Amino acid sequence: MHLIWLFASLVVLASAGTSQDSEQKRYDNHRVYELNISNNVQLKIINKLTELSQKYDIWKEYNAHTKQMHVMVNPSEEKRFQLFLRLFNINNELLIPNLQSLIDNESVANARYSTTFGWSRYNSLAEIYTWLDGILAAYPEVTEGSIIGQSYEGRDIRAIKISYKEGNPGVVIESNIHGCEWITSATVTYFINQLLTSEDEQVRALAENHDWYIVPVLNVDGFVYSHEKDRLWRKNRQPSNTSSCVGADPNRNYDSHWMEQGGSSDPCASNYAGAYAFSEPEIKAMSDYIISIKDKLNIFLGFHSYSQLVLSPYGHTDLEFPDNYDDMMQVAKAYADAVEAMPYGSVYQIGSSATVLYFTSGGAKEWAYNEMDIELSYTIEFRDTGRYGFMLPPAFILPNCEEAMTGLLAMMAESDKLGYLKPKYVL
Ligand SMILES: [Zn+2]
Repeated sequence: MHLIWLFASLVVLASAGTSQDSEQKRYDNHRVYELNISNNVQLKIINKLTELSQKYDIWKEYNAHTKQMHVMVNPSEEKRFQLFLRLFNINNELLIPNLQSLIDNESVANARYSTTFGWSRYNSLAEIYTWLDGILAAYPEVTEGSIIGQSYEGRDIRAIKISYKEGNPGVVIESNIHGCEWITSATVTYFINQLLTSEDEQVRALAENHDWYIVPVLNVDGFVYSHEKDRLWRKNRQPSNTSSCVGADPNRNYDSHWMEQGGSSDPCASNYAGAYAFSEPEIKAMSDYIISIKDKLNIFLGFHSYSQLVLSPYGHTDLEFPDNYDDMMQVAKAYADAVEAMPYGSVYQIGSSATVLYFTSGGAKEWAYNEMDIELSYTIEFRDTGRYGFMLPPAFILPNCEEAMTGLLAMMAESDKLGYLKPKYVL
């Protein structure tokens, strides 16, 4: 224990005077490590390190079942970090040797296709919204656009409903709740496009026999900030009353087991849960939207990256499971099996958040399941497993989109087979 506190004070000293935002935050020589934790002392040491210094960032929190975590390390901390890895014999693998080079490569690849909207590059919020306007204008009979609310910085949060007929079961998709998870809005726009334009028989049935309520970019401020200022920005942009740190983790701010496990009360933490449940305007807007269509919804899907997982509730405990957990896993398995059978061979793990990923509370899918009676409620974590992490290169956008389409087709078929797609409302 003494050692922990000795080095803790060193870290605090070393972190004083963190520099302010420049035009665009750089990550030269920042490294990302996968750690395989084998005992409590190792876990404590890493948690203390990352808690006390903003020169570390946990990309994937420790999970007692997988024993793994991913940590980003500032180059000024690299020596100290290596020392502690050796001292405490922590098994590790370097996933990303220089974060900035991945960010640079992504910008170059993005610039190559800068003139057209598509899925060869990542689009900005303005481009996504302009494209959405085009879609709404081109398919007025079956689409309906709406503004579900405004972000802290006053941007519109938009939704699109796609419905070919009345009486369909409903699916709501929440995407890009975390700013840096660009693959989610890329995938959801591809999905919208396929629902409206595909001539594939299965996709047509998927489009026409369900009602789709889709929010392509929920955390609009965080997404714009991630594009313009800090590629790795996760939270929203609402300031805190008690700290100079900005933003809360929107997916810890729903009113379900808020702040129980896996959310932080520290405004500087990347999983800061907000001042109170629904304190974040984006989450208030999203929850109001879901409440307004609650009776029409059979399935909730939250799109995230990275890790390749299909996750069910619960996040706050790994000792309890939803009543219909077996059914949920059967549906999740259909998604994972269908994706793995594709030529890319991507493997998705399935399970509850707390058992397969890490503890979370105040999350969207738990709120949807517990409070909105949406019996099938999932987080889908897209590509990859850590090689590129949040900076999934643009070349992998389309493969990810194809996997999501195939996975969702299988998922919906399995949900139907188990009787979860009966329309919830009477005409
Ligand atoms: Zn996320």
